Amino acid sequence: MSKMLPDTLILMVTYRCNLNCIYCPVIKSRSTMPFYLAQKALDIFVSRNPYLKKIRFFGGEPLIKFDVIKQVINSCGNMGKGRISFDLTTNGTLLSKGILKFLADNPRIELILSLDGDSRTQSLNKVSHNPRVVPYDLLVKKLPFLLKLPLVTVNMVAAPNQVREFFNNFNHILSLGFKRFNFLPAYYVTWKQAELKILRGEFNKIASSIIRNKNVYVKNLSFCSETALFNNAVVVDCNGDIFSNNLILSRAFLGLRNRMKLGNVRDFRIDDLKKGEDLSSLMGGAAYKKIINAAEAPDRILTHFVERLKYEKS
Ligand code: SF4
Repeated sequence: MSKMLPDTLILMVTYRCNLNCIYCPVIKSRSTMPFYLAQKALDIFVSRNPYLKKIRFFGGEPLIKFDVIKQVINSCGNMGKGRISFDLTTNGTLLSKGILKFLADNPRIELILSLDGDSRTQSLNKVSHNPRVVPYDLLVKKLPFLLKLPLVTVNMVAAPNQVREFFNNFNHILSLGFKRFNFLPAYYVTWKQAELKILRGEFNKIASSIIRNKNVYVKNLSFCSETALFNNAVVVDCNGDIFSNNLILSRAFLGLRNRMKLGNVRDFRIDDLKKGEDLSSLMGGAAYKKIINAAEAPDRILTHFVERLKYEKS
């Protein structure tokens, strides 16, 4: 098999979401991935691919298509691919007892929970379509189950409107009992210079605290993307279209979709993976450059935080 085959596969299982977060870059629609397309993606990128290490489930809110996620995981097991690991990033509001049990029984699945802080902070940007749904309360209700899961990581996003509380929110999440963190600045928003300065200061406080607290695991240390806005991996979209990174999941880059498409799982050929234009030439347009330049400033602060931790924890 060709070495062109990926070590990571991202399945975009749905564009639907029950929240409407203020900093969300994802295009929202009713599209979802039927299992037969997910199975085609597994036949191509998993069954005869010795390099495949991880499958990531993206959305929207991936738990809306938990039936497909479950079938994919079971199908990998049936293919004798029991060593593949999985992760799914969720806002946590749809975690049912059945889903929590499935996660508890499958230690190769990492649950990445989007939690920005205390109730006030979480409600600031994680807006529900239904005003009676309070995302923080729904999560906290499930805390005893969540803390028992084999692999749960909190994804904390700092945004300009709550960055002043970033360190306090980190402490709050620690006090809930979580020990594994991934930190991200909101990328598709406007950061003023003064807010970037606060972000730097808050990251420094968090780093100092983590250096003292040996029990905290920081996922950014082992998984750091080379670019601010996207991960390189084969991405299979809801309709089976194949891409070489997850940039197209953002509405800001929708216009590049056709030029970035490598093929479709329905009629895939291995040479499709050679297709696609060079990203740097695609990004040459002024509008895209502006988005990328804006993301670079908070990303440099994150990189400095990660480098400090790497240096001082080693
Ligand atoms: S939960 Fe995730 S996908 Fe849904 S609106 Fe918020 S950031 Fe976007």
